[in-house]
Order: sequence, then C-alpha cells, then structure tokens
Amino acid sequence: MKIIDHIKNAAGKTLFSFELLPPVKGQSIQGIYDAIDPLMEFKPPFIDVTYHREDYIYKQHETGLLEKVSYRKRPGTVAICAAIMNRYKVDAVPHLICGGFTKEETENALIDLQFLGIDNVLVLRGDARKADASFIPTPGGHTYACNLLEQVFNMNNGQYLHEDHDTSFSTNFCIGVAGYPEKHFEAPNLKVDFRYLKQKVEMGAEFIVTQMFYENSKYFEFVSNCRENGIDVPIIPGLKPITSSKQLISLPKLFHIDIPEELSEAVTKCKNETEVKEVGIEFMIEQCKELVNFGAPVLHFYTMSNPGPTKKIAEAIF
Ligand code: FAD
Repeated sequence: MKIIDHIKNAAGKTLFSFELLPPVKGQSIQGIYDAIDPLMEFKPPFIDVTYHREDYIYKQHETGLLEKVSYRKRPGTVAICAAIMNRYKVDAVPHLICGGFTKEETENALIDLQFLGIDNVLVLRGDARKADASFIPTPGGHTYACNLLEQVFNMNNGQYLHEDHDTSFSTNFCIGVAGYPEKHFEAPNLKVDFRYLKQKVEMGAEFIVTQMFYENSKYFEFVSNCRENGIDVPIIPGLKPITSSKQLISLPKLFHIDIPEELSEAVTKCKNETEVKEVGIEFMIEQCKELVNFGAPVLHFYTMSNPGPTKKIAEAIF
C-alpha cells in the first residue's frame, strides 16, 4: 500500500516506522531480522531500507603499487525489501539514489521493484563517496534528486527511456523525498533549499521525510513554511536517539544539524555511556510526545539497525 494511504487510513493517529541499513557485505540477513523483530509489536506499516553508493578502497599489490578499486560495502537493498515484505507482510520502502546508477540501471531497478510489489520509493541524490570532496554524478546518471524523481514520475506515466517497443505498462510508485528543517548543507540558504523542495513536490513527490533534528521548533517551523509555500504533502519527522557521547560531535559533523544545549549538557554530565543512552532515550521520548501532540503523521526512526533505544521510546509513545 502507498505510504500516503497508510497515513490517510490512520485518520490522524501518529504511526510508527523505522529505517535499516543493509548488512555489511559478508554478513547474513539474520541481522536485519534481529533489528526488525523487537519493533514489530509497534505495528510499523512500512520499513525503509537505505541505499549505499559504491566507495573506493586501495588494494596494495606485492610490488607495492596501490590499486584503486570500486567497492560497494552494503549491497542488497532490493533483496532485503523483498525479504521484509515476504516475512513481515509490511511495506518496504527502498531508498533510490542518483549516485552509482546510470539512467538505464535505474530504470531496470525500478522494473524489479515494481515486479516485487513494492509501492513506495524514497528518491534521493545520495551522499558523496568518502574519497570525493563533494557529490559527483555517475556518467549517464542523475545529478539531483529531482532528475531521478522525474524518471520515476515518467515511468508512472508509462514513459520509459527508449520507447522502441510496446511500453503499455506503467509503474505506480508513491514517491517520497528528503527535506531538511535545518537546511541541506550545500544550499546557500533555507529559501533556496525550499525552492528545490517545492520543485520536487510539484514534480510528483507525495511525501517528505526529514533529516533528523533535536529541536522540535525547527520541525514546526519547517512544516509551517511548507504549508505557507503550498507544499501540502505529509511531512514525516526523522528521529535518531543519541546513544553515545561521541555523537555530540559526529552528528553535527555528518548531518549538519544542531544539538540543543539542554541535551548536550545532559550528555556531558553523564558518568558513563549507559547513562548517555538513558539520557538520549528520555530526551527523545519527550520530543516524540510533543510531535504526537502536534499531529506528526508518522514518527520515523533512524535505527541504524540497532533496535534497542527505539524500542524503549516506542514503548513510551505507542
Ligand atoms: P537534492 O534534493 O538533489 O538536493 C541536494 C542539494 O542540491 C541541496 O542543497 C539542494 O538545495 C540543491 N538542489 C536540489 N535541486 C537542485 C537543482 N535542480 N539545481 C540546483 N541545486 C539543486 N543518502 C544515501 O546515500 N543513501 C540513503 O539511503 C539516504 N537516505 C536518506 C534518507 C533521508 C530521510 C534523508 C534526509 C537523507 C538521506 N540520505 C541518503 C542523504 C542524502 O542523500 C543527502 O543528504 C544528499 O546530500 C542530498 O540528497 P537530496 O535527495 O536531498 O538531494
């Protein structure tokens, strides 16, 4: 079922969902099931699976020469989605990224997803490879999420890349996109970032999932700005409980978000990492209560495949 229909059917009740990372290459899918099982009691109508672009590693040869090799650390998004749908009877939402795919590869991936019965995709540009200073599009691929979105939208209207044969079958994906309450780090200002978000919605995006945030006021303001600018689609808050003191540095660095003083002070005062986890969970419970009161359609957790903290929060909320 489409995410927008799950939200409509909930008739104002806040739903629970979460996101998983595919296992690192060489690990079994059991890790995915172990990350899902403890959270199923909260009845997620959908579960997201992230996509990871290839990166480079350097292999040293006997001669001492280093060879740059392209390497995908976490393959398997599409197969994991199929396995989740088959085992748990919930919708799986694959993240589709521009990086690492030509348009033809994207088209083929979308056909696979449609045949597997996947109804939703989250369309993203994707992160830069670690070795690159900024995002470099794949030759023959897309540069921005809106370009990828256009391709999915076209396929939903029966338009494939090379119409040299009968293409009477249309896909029917419900398309989601990313939104940034604190601005995407490359955008010169919120206004410009907003313009591109609006463009994605005008081009057919039916829901938005936000970057994580720790100050609800930023989400409230973002929603209000969207509504004032004619963006009427559901805006799903993305949430990630703090689980270690190192995240006071790594989260702002990686995701370009602020951690409010109240939370950073509380974490700094903790005597050990167990206390940090407790503080992170308590903080997020309060954050979630406020989001539910506000009428957030879904609370969407970035679990990083570690269900423990999310389970404790969900127990207090759902
Ligand atoms: P875009 O919408 O393309 O925007 C990127 C930047 O370009 C922004 O600064 C925007 O303002 C600007 N821009 C947009 N359109 C245009 C245009 N037409 N012309 C000029 N400038 C433009 N990354 C992964 O690799 N895998 C994942 O699974 C993944 N999942 C994510 C899930 C969520 C909910 C979120 C919030 C992020 C996720 N990311 C993921 C990270 C995401 O790929 C990065 O944040 C990336 O840098 C931007 O992606 P985007 O889709 O927002 O890009």
